[in-house]
Amino acid sequence: MRYYEYFNTLLPQLIGEKEGSVAPDITPSAAFAYHTSEEAEAIFAGESDKPIYARIGNPTSGKLETVLAKMEGAEGAVATASGMAAIAMVLTALCEKRDKVLCAGGFFSGTYAMIQETMPRFGIEGHFCNIDDFEEMEKLLQEGVKIVLCESVGNPNLKLPDIRRIALLCDRYNALFVVDNTLTPLIVQPLKMGADIVVYSTTKIICGHSAALGGAVIFRRVKESNEKLLDPKFSAIHSLLEKGPKAMMTVFKKRSMRDFGMSANAFASFLTLLGMETLALRTRRINENVKRVAKLLHHEGLKVRHPSLSGHEHHLRYEALFPDGCGPILTLDLETERKAFAFLDASKLLTLTANVGDNRTLGLHMASTIYRDFDEDTRLRLGVTDGLVRISIGLESPIAIAEDLIAAAGILKQT
Ligand SMILES: *Cc1c(COP(=O)(O)O)cnc(C)c1O
Repeated sequence: MRYYEYFNTLLPQLIGEKEGSVAPDITPSAAFAYHTSEEAEAIFAGESDKPIYARIGNPTSGKLETVLAKMEGAEGAVATASGMAAIAMVLTALCEKRDKVLCAGGFFSGTYAMIQETMPRFGIEGHFCNIDDFEEMEKLLQEGVKIVLCESVGNPNLKLPDIRRIALLCDRYNALFVVDNTLTPLIVQPLKMGADIVVYSTTKIICGHSAALGGAVIFRRVKESNEKLLDPKFSAIHSLLEKGPKAMMTVFKKRSMRDFGMSANAFASFLTLLGMETLALRTRRINENVKRVAKLLHHEGLKVRHPSLSGHEHHLRYEALFPDGCGPILTLDLETERKAFAFLDASKLLTLTANVGDNRTLGLHMASTIYRDFDEDTRLRLGVTDGLVRISIGLESPIAIAEDLIAAAGILKQT
């Protein structure tokens, strides 16, 4: 059975009880009362699963965490306020002053800015390398990089990583490998390919309805032998690892969530759970749509970039390692900002927004919006050319989407 079908069958069964409310319960409480003082003590000591206080966890978010961990074949998950909160949680829970973090590949603008600008203010060094520059990766790992971060598909550069190969390198040098799987839930399962931690912006395709901001950190079990977290690099968390296989939950909550408070709220988690019930169906439809639309636009002579097209530098990797697709995005190069604006304004179907992975097809000119604060060199390094438009394909008919985009590009030719 394909994982889609497995997940379709599994997921509705995981949500709600077989009796009573069928939709997930929302517990909109910030505080939780304890039965006795002894119970309070046990809860704070981690000997009871009952909630402490909503900054540390909420039952509705707890349900979402169970479903996300199940989806990823993981030991556990922590739901966060946003995708950026999830990345911030990983870095603040695991890094000390002077630690090195390596970002491999092109990056979502928020992640790039966090590693390039914000984390260095707290003494954490950011490094960057091309997704296929294994030599540079190995050199930096030898120099003591603690965390390697990559995206399962570059947003918006659409480069694809060789996750297994990077995971092996990280294992060799006892570095943690974190994959941002925001664009490819279900179709890429990084933990099964050797990654240690998966982060999501659930705001995108997991929620799907542009209704809730959210994120998650999903982690593997702590192993009884050959555990790379026992390397001296990670000595700051060694005492917490004694908590056993689920110890990463304690690491994230005690070393980050408790003090920074990037917690998910119950209502957002409820909306995200509703989205997850149809995630497999939507993911499948969207990934089939992207491929169809990319082909139709390419056929019309548009400068479309997607790994399913044979001209893309990672086409072979796409065929070999991404059999179910690589997420909702394709990009169009319209050469200049003026042409990109005219194209976007001529489309009747696109919703112009900074989101991706929605049920609707979305579009945005990159250089003038999300990447406007970056200088030209950085933009080009991230794959953002002057005329670049990012399209996030939705659930509509692929023919209707392609016809609309081709018509918008046709209007361009006449002007
Ligand atoms: C949107 C996005 C994020 C950030 O998520 P938010 O929920 O907006 O904070 C991180 N990584 C990727 C790949 C994204 O697309």
